[in-house]
Amino acid sequence: MSDARARPLALITGATSGIGREFAEQLAIAGHDLVIVARDADRLTAIAADLSDRYGIDCRTLVADLSRDDGVDSVVRQIDELQPDVLVNNAGFGTTGTLGRADRASQDSMLRLHVLAVHRLAQAAVQGMIRRGSGTIVIVSSVASYLTSPGNVNYCASKAFQRIYAEGLSLEVAHHGIYVQALCPGFTRTEFHARGGIDSSRYPSWMWLDVRRVVGESLAAVARRRPVVVIPALRYRVIVLLLRYLPLWLRNRLLGFYRRDGRGTAATRMHPGQ
Ligand code: NAP
Repeated sequence: MSDARARPLALITGATSGIGREFAEQLAIAGHDLVIVARDADRLTAIAADLSDRYGIDCRTLVADLSRDDGVDSVVRQIDELQPDVLVNNAGFGTTGTLGRADRASQDSMLRLHVLAVHRLAQAAVQGMIRRGSGTIVIVSSVASYLTSPGNVNYCASKAFQRIYAEGLSLEVAHHGIYVQALCPGFTRTEFHARGGIDSSRYPSWMWLDVRRVVGESLAAVARRRPVVVIPALRYRVIVLLLRYLPLWLRNRLLGFYRRDGRGTAATRMHPGQ
């Protein structure tokens, strides 16, 4: 943490809901001051007041659309000024529909949010952390980073970018005392599916994770400073093992992504782990 501060400071993107909201809760309990970032100003204000009230921490809010350059610029300025000890790069969303039909603007936004914003915030944070010789960066990727799926081309590709980015960044900065984590959850109960128009009732209950567990496993790894890739829950670690080592044709056949004639299906189903 920075010398002048009484408490470590964490900046969390996408903190108004779901996984980001839970990071805010658990990091506040652990005694961090917070900067919480999202687009919904009213929700941010209410959450900041609630966390400050219950845990006696300082919680600032920053309204920013991270799929826009000006939104990312404003958060980069805050990182440069405040030098957070922890960055949680979490904001994200899903879509449904194949690229042949999907709205172009939402695909652009996804790539800006999941790729460019994640990189720009991480680079800004890491430059200060290297000077201080310590810091933590968590990038919320997904089990989907191990998948390719019709109807989710950019989601899977951008989540793979995030995981590989975290793995590469970790190699660059671990010797500076900086821990980088790619958090790869499977299906987690949040607002994600409703917002993305995804029918969550299609997926069996065993696939669903509780957000407290997902964030708890992430922060336990932060405390240990390992591993770089955190996949909450044994069942998802087994699924990832299969996804990594099954031949692609067999994987796609098992997931129903190939028709009997061997050609790709136009299905728009979601997959194990958004
Ligand atoms: P969520 O409940 O919908 O929360 C998403 C958060 O991101 C909200 O706080 C939202 O706030 C913020 N956000 C979205 N677009 C934004 C933008 N353009 N600029 C700034 N903030 C933005 O979803 P979640 O499940 O917690 O998702 C968090 C992360 O976990 C995502 O990266 C997602 O890909 C990943 N993930 C989720 C699951 C799952 O099954 N839920 C599984 C694996 C990975 P505002 O609307 O207020 O901006």
